[in-house]
Amino acid sequence: MSNSRRQKNSGIIPERSGKNPKQAKPTPLPLGKIFLIFWILLLVNYLVVNVFFPDAEIPVKIPYTVFKEEVIKNNVKAIYTKGELISGEFEKKVTYTPPILNSKAEPGESKEVSNFTTILPSFADESLEALLIEHRVVILADPIVEETSIFRSILTYFGPVILLILFYVWLFRRSQKQGGIGLGGMMGIGQSKAKRFDQENATKVTFDDVAGIDEAENELVEIVDFLRNPEKYTRLGGTAPKGVLLVGAPGTGKTLLARAVAGESGVPFFSMSASEFVEMIVGVGAARVRDLFKTARENAPAIIFIDELDSIGRSRGQYITSGGSEQEQTLNQILTEMDGFSSKEGVIVLAATNQPDILDKALLRAGRFDRRVVVNPPDKTGRIEILKVHTRKVPLDGKFSLEEVASATPGFTGADLKNLVNEAALLAAHHEAEKVTNKDFIDALEKIVLGPERPILLSHQDRERIAYHESGHAILGLVVPGADPVNRVTIVPRGQALGVTYQRPDSDKYNYQEMYLRARITGMLGGRAAEEIVFGTKTTGAEKDIEQATDIARGMVTRWGMSKELGMVQLAPRQNEYLGVSYGGTKPFSEDTAKKIDMEVLKIIDECHKESLRLLTLHRKQLDALANALLERETLDEQEILNVTGLPPAPELDSKKI
Ligand code: ADP
Ligand code: MG
Ligand code: ZN
Repeated sequence: MSNSRRQKNSGIIPERSGKNPKQAKPTPLPLGKIFLIFWILLLVNYLVVNVFFPDAEIPVKIPYTVFKEEVIKNNVKAIYTKGELISGEFEKKVTYTPPILNSKAEPGESKEVSNFTTILPSFADESLEALLIEHRVVILADPIVEETSIFRSILTYFGPVILLILFYVWLFRRSQKQGGIGLGGMMGIGQSKAKRFDQENATKVTFDDVAGIDEAENELVEIVDFLRNPEKYTRLGGTAPKGVLLVGAPGTGKTLLARAVAGESGVPFFSMSASEFVEMIVGVGAARVRDLFKTARENAPAIIFIDELDSIGRSRGQYITSGGSEQEQTLNQILTEMDGFSSKEGVIVLAATNQPDILDKALLRAGRFDRRVVVNPPDKTGRIEILKVHTRKVPLDGKFSLEEVASATPGFTGADLKNLVNEAALLAAHHEAEKVTNKDFIDALEKIVLGPERPILLSHQDRERIAYHESGHAILGLVVPGADPVNRVTIVPRGQALGVTYQRPDSDKYNYQEMYLRARITGMLGGRAAEEIVFGTKTTGAEKDIEQATDIARGMVTRWGMSKELGMVQLAPRQNEYLGVSYGGTKPFSEDTAKKIDMEVLKIIDECHKESLRLLTLHRKQLDALANALLERETLDEQEILNVTGLPPAPELDSKKI
């Protein structure tokens, strides 16, 4: 036991000082380090054993001749014999090298011998006795036994085990102090891995880097201001918000905003992705949350940022998988922590999510994440601003128009635009231009939206069929009222498609009219309709068109109340971008209704299909012209399409009629 204390003082294990909270900050103990400590413990044990309890020497077997020589040299102190075995002790140590006796044997190492044994040969006679007496060798009555210390035996065999147990206990207590639970904390996984963004952080993000989402930005500017001079706000009895929830689609800049807050506020910023809280070991997530809040409060005023909150903040009871209870615990811990401090302490919790509707209601109640900042995809002006931010370091052509790019990218988020700028710059670099032009942007846009060109060799029949299929889409894009303008038609295979008709709205659309949706379906079915009219046969080429058309038609019936038969009843849960539509096992409607839904969807598709057949038959001449032009030129842009067909752009929808 005694050496365990020596261990502690030897400084191998850093002792935890409870006085200094800065030093007591949890330092994770990686597995590698634990192994290292094991090895050091074993080594220390070995050294302690050998220095303090040196072993009695093990006798070395020597030949009888060597023994006899040493007797003659007066170097043998004492011997003890039993039968033919002689053991004894030399006066001075003898260096003995075992001889090589045959070719196989290796020469032994030479040894310093003080205790020896040897065998008395059967031919030895009484002359030995005389010799021994003559050279004053003591002939003992008891064997020479040097006692091996009992401590030595215990330490050699049990020392490592004792040390390991002590080490284990130490680790355990350490983890408990840090709020870890059991083994979880022991291995250092109970501690939050929260990154700390300081104002002096090298990759400092500021509000200058955020553009096009001004409303969200303004709200956060206010929070930064609060942290900088709280008196200004508390003077009149107001309190700071405790929790702010950033809500918005992926890529709209929520994480970016949070980092900008960190960069601007000048207070410690602890950031963590909620998915990191969730590990297989139950209790670890909760321990991490506790740790994160504790550290932040010690450093107040401070900001905590929990990214991707939905990965743990999902309503309790929604979990079907086994990881559920762990997430519930973590969520409960967040709720507890958020109640546990007052905003006077100067800790503000930011969180981001793209699925606010699945969050547990308890998270959203007053006193927790009671402020909600919606981060919307930018409108056209916003997109121009974002493009400005991301083209700061990109040399743009003199005639470059950011506005044109912004008009061509409705629905694009900040992340999409950043990606677009990057692709355009790469394209320009690829053809060794000095500046990036609008054309690079449009090409990059096509590459992103349509996929890269795919060089596959098609037969003439296939190309003809594809040309008619795409022309069918394009012609309908010109003649169906309300259809989106056709920007480009191509029969060069791109991405998954063999040909592409690219249509996009000329302005941002937030709300869709029923007639517009029908126009979309009609256009989508135009490819197949053209094939039917021209070739009279069907191919698999319309799979994607049919899928998309069905999606829209189903939405019209089940979500948007556009079917007279079924009325304004919600028959499908709101579509979730990531999880798809799920009924959670049972449909919330009767079999009878299910049948009606199918009939209504079929009816819409059928009507639109008939309409596309009618319109294409009516414009057969233009259809042929466009298909032939495509076979010849492969790709036509908006103006070329209008020229070849001689048709005007599609008429607007008459909104008064609806
Ligand atoms: P989110 O967290 O909402 O999914 P991010 O903040 O991670 O999105 O955005 C990813 C990247 O896209 C950012 O790092 C930034 O470069 C760019 N970005 C997104 N929104 C904007 C914006 N409003 N202004 C400038 N850049 C943006
Ligand atoms: Mg994010
Ligand atoms: Zn098609």
